[in-house]
Amino acid sequence: MADYTTYEHDVLVIGAGGAGLRAAIEASAAGVSVGLICKSLLGKAHTVMAEGGMAAAMGNVDDRDNWKVHFTDTMRGGQYVNNWRMAELHAKEAPDRVRELEAWGAVFDRTKDGKILQRNFGGHRYPRLAHVGDRTGLELIRTLQDHGIHQGIEVYMEVTVLSLLKDGDRVVGCLAYEREHGRFRVFKAKAVILATGGIGRAYKITSNSWEGTGDGHALAYDAGAELIDMEFIQFHPTGMVWPPSVRGILVTEGVRGEGGILKNSEGKRFMFDDIPANYKDQTADTPEEGWRYVTGDKDARRPPELLTRDHVARCIVREVKEGRGSPHGGVFLDIAWIKEKVQNAPEHIKKKLPSMYHQFKQLANLDITTTPMEVGPTTHYVMGGIRVDSDTQASTIPGLFAAGECAAGINGANRLGGNSLSDLIVFGKRAGEYAAIFAKENGHGTLDGSEIDQKTRTALESFEREGGENPYTIQQDLQELMQANVGIVRTHDEMIQALNGIDQLRNRSARTFVPGNIDFNPGWHTALDLHNLLVVSEAIARAGIERKESRGGHFRDDFPAKDPEFAKFNFSLKKTDDGAMQIEKIPIPEMPAELKAVVEEMG
Ligand SMILES: Cc1cc2nc3c(=O)[nH]c(=O)nc-3n(C[C@H](O)[C@H](O)[C@H](O)COP(=O)(O)OP(=O)(O)OC[C@H]3O[C@@H](n4cnc5c(N)ncnc54)[C@H](O)[C@@H]3O)c2cc1C
Repeated sequence: MADYTTYEHDVLVIGAGGAGLRAAIEASAAGVSVGLICKSLLGKAHTVMAEGGMAAAMGNVDDRDNWKVHFTDTMRGGQYVNNWRMAELHAKEAPDRVRELEAWGAVFDRTKDGKILQRNFGGHRYPRLAHVGDRTGLELIRTLQDHGIHQGIEVYMEVTVLSLLKDGDRVVGCLAYEREHGRFRVFKAKAVILATGGIGRAYKITSNSWEGTGDGHALAYDAGAELIDMEFIQFHPTGMVWPPSVRGILVTEGVRGEGGILKNSEGKRFMFDDIPANYKDQTADTPEEGWRYVTGDKDARRPPELLTRDHVARCIVREVKEGRGSPHGGVFLDIAWIKEKVQNAPEHIKKKLPSMYHQFKQLANLDITTTPMEVGPTTHYVMGGIRVDSDTQASTIPGLFAAGECAAGINGANRLGGNSLSDLIVFGKRAGEYAAIFAKENGHGTLDGSEIDQKTRTALESFEREGGENPYTIQQDLQELMQANVGIVRTHDEMIQALNGIDQLRNRSARTFVPGNIDFNPGWHTALDLHNLLVVSEAIARAGIERKESRGGHFRDDFPAKDPEFAKFNFSLKKTDDGAMQIEKIPIPEMPAELKAVVEEMG
C-alpha cells in the first residue's frame, strides 16, 4: 500500500494565483473549511508577474467608459466566439471587484483628484486599466494574501497535484506530492476548484513562469471534463529577443500605452500600414493623433500600436519575414522618442515603467530612456481551457470548478490585455461562492485506495527505468515542435506533423529515467509534468486543425480569412473511454436581444 498522508477540507482550491486566492477567500467567507494548494511558495504564483494592470470600466479617467463599452470591446477583441454571458458578467462586476481590492488595502496609482488611475491598453476604447506602476500583479497577490491569511485558509505550499480523485462521476479529492521531499499527500474535498494558470511552457519562447505547464487543463481533461477554445493561443507581440537567455520575457503593453512606438529596421512606423477594417474608425490617422490619445485627448483615437495583440504580433512577424527586422530577429519598440514631447522624459519613463527600465538595464544592458528595445512575439496566454458554466464556474463534471487562466470562455479568440487580472477576481469570487454552496449541499465522497496505490506506483516508475529517456530532452523537443508547427502562423500539414511528433514524444515519455530519489528532484518533477504538457499540446493542435479559418490568436496560412460559419461554435475536447482525444463542435447560444443592442449601440 502506498505511503501517504490524508487531509480533509470542504473546498479545495488548487492554485494560489489571483483566481485561486480570490476563490479561497470567497469560499472561506461562506463558512466552509478551505485548503489552498500551490506548487511554489505563497505569493510566487505567476500572477505576481502581471505588469500593466486590470481592466475595469470605472470611468475614472474618461467618464464615457461603462460596462457596455467594456463588454463590446471584449466581444470584438474575442471576435465574437466568446461566452457572451461571461463577458457581460466580467464587464459589469470588475469595477466592484477592483474597489473591493482597494478596500482591502491595494495601493493603486491615483488621478490628481485621488481616484484609481486607469491607463490605456490595446483594444480598450478608453483608459481602463487600474494599475500600480508596472507591478500590478504583485499588488493584487499581496492584497489577496494579506486579506486571505486572516480567514483561516489552510495553505499547502510547494505541493503539486498529480491527479483528481473521483467517486463515480463526481470529483472528491486529489493526489499530490510535496516538491521538497517527494512524499505523497491525499486531499479529500466536497468541491475542488482548479485555478492552475496557463500552458506557456509547451512552447520554446514564452513569457510564462516555470509553473505554466497546463496542469489544471490536463487534470480536468483526465477526469472527464471538457476543454474548449484550445486553438486560441495568445502570442504577445512584445517579448525580449536579446540576449538569448532572456528571450520571451515580457515587455508590457504598458510601454505602448505610455506612447511607445514600433519601428522596423528602416525606421518606419509600420503599424500604420495595416489597420483591420473593423478597427479603422477607432484608430488614429496620424502619429500626432496617436500621441494626443495616449496623453488623454478625448477627441483623439488610439495609435495602431494599441490594436489587439494578435494583429500586432502578426505585423511584427511580417516585418521580420520580409527582411525589415532588427538585428536579433525582432523589431524596435521605442519609448525614448517621447523626449521630443515630454519634459524630463527619462524620469517620466522611469516613474511610469520602473520594472521595464530595470529589466532592460539588468538583463540587456540597455537604457530604455535613451535607446529603443528589440522585441518580438512570445507565447503569453491561453484563451482555451476548462469549459465552465458562466455564472457558477462549474465544469462539466460534478464537484469540479475552475477559474482564471485555466478556465475558458470569456476571451473567445483573443484576450484583451488587462482582462485577465479582472477575470481572476470576478470569476475567482464566483467559483469560491458556488463551490462553497456545492460543498454545503453534498457530503464527502469515498476515495478508492487501490486507485491511489496504482497512481502513486505509476508516478514512481521513472526511477526504475535505468537507461531510459531524459525528461528534460523530451520537454525541450516538445517545445521546439510546438513553436515550429503550432505557432503564430499555422497550416494543416504543420499541425499534423505536430500531432505525429506528440505521439512519438508520448511514447518516449513513457520511458523516462530519473536518477536519484524523491528528495529534491526537479528531474522527477519534469518527468511528471510531461503528461500535462502533452495533453495541452495535443488539444491545441487538434482544435487548430479543425478550425479551418483565421480568427484571433489562431492564424492559418492555408485559410487566412475569417469564415462566418466558424463564428457559430466553439470546439470542445474530451477524453473518450479508450483514452483518445475526441473533438466536437459546441454551438454558441444566440446573444440575447438586449446584448445585441449594446453591441450595436457601442460598436
Ligand atoms: C509577464 C506577464 C505579465 C502579465 N501582465 C498582465 C497584466 O498586466 N494584466 C492582465 O490582465 N494579465 C496579465 N498577464 C496575464 C496574467 O498574469 C495571468 O493570466 C494570470 O495571472 C493567471 O492567473 P491565475 O490565477 O489563473 O493563475 P497563476 O497566477 O498562473 O497561478 C497558478 C497557480 O496554480 C498553481 N499550480 C499550477 N499547477 C499546479 C498543480 N499541479 N498543483 C498545485 N498547484 C498548481 C501554481 O503554483 C500557482 O499558484 C501577464 C502575464 C505575464 C506572463
